[in-house]
Amino acid sequence: MPFTPLHLGPGLVLKSALGRHFSLLCFAGAQVVMDIEPLIRLWQGDGQVHGMTHSYLLALPLAALTYWLLGLGWHLLGWLQPYLSGGGWLRQLAINPPSPCCRLCSVLLGTQSHVLLDSNMHADLQPWRPFSEHNAAYGWLSIDELTFGCLVCALLGLMIMLLRAYQRRRHH
Ligand SMILES: [Zn+2]
Repeated sequence: MPFTPLHLGPGLVLKSALGRHFSLLCFAGAQVVMDIEPLIRLWQGDGQVHGMTHSYLLALPLAALTYWLLGLGWHLLGWLQPYLSGGGWLRQLAINPPSPCCRLCSVLLGTQSHVLLDSNMHADLQPWRPFSEHNAAYGWLSIDELTFGCLVCALLGLMIMLLRAYQRRRHH
């Protein structure tokens, strides 16, 4: 299913563990870009929804595309910065862009984890293209187990981040 928010569960855990070295926004952007091909295929009524972009190797150009698009986005935000309201989140985003290294790592983790999760879930996916058509990860966890795992990750990540924010506030 394109654009499932479940992919963000592992992202929230990564954010809670890596802090400012990881960008959840870049990770989420990678999820959206990854599901462009399935969305087009669904729209066209194609029998195979997950095509070549849902493989570890061919997800790399999509990571590069996401990296570039996000860089462009921050560039535009930089131009708009003087016109953005002082305390707004968009201005905060413009002032504190993630470093290129953080951006790159986050989109790579986003695209590769996307292939891993989807290959467990969808029979039509061939994660090792173009070398193999097999998908050994399919059905490793049931859909319920996978959903539960992603939700637990999301809750765990959120709890750790809230706890850290609370501790920071108490310190100040
Ligand atoms: Zn997908």
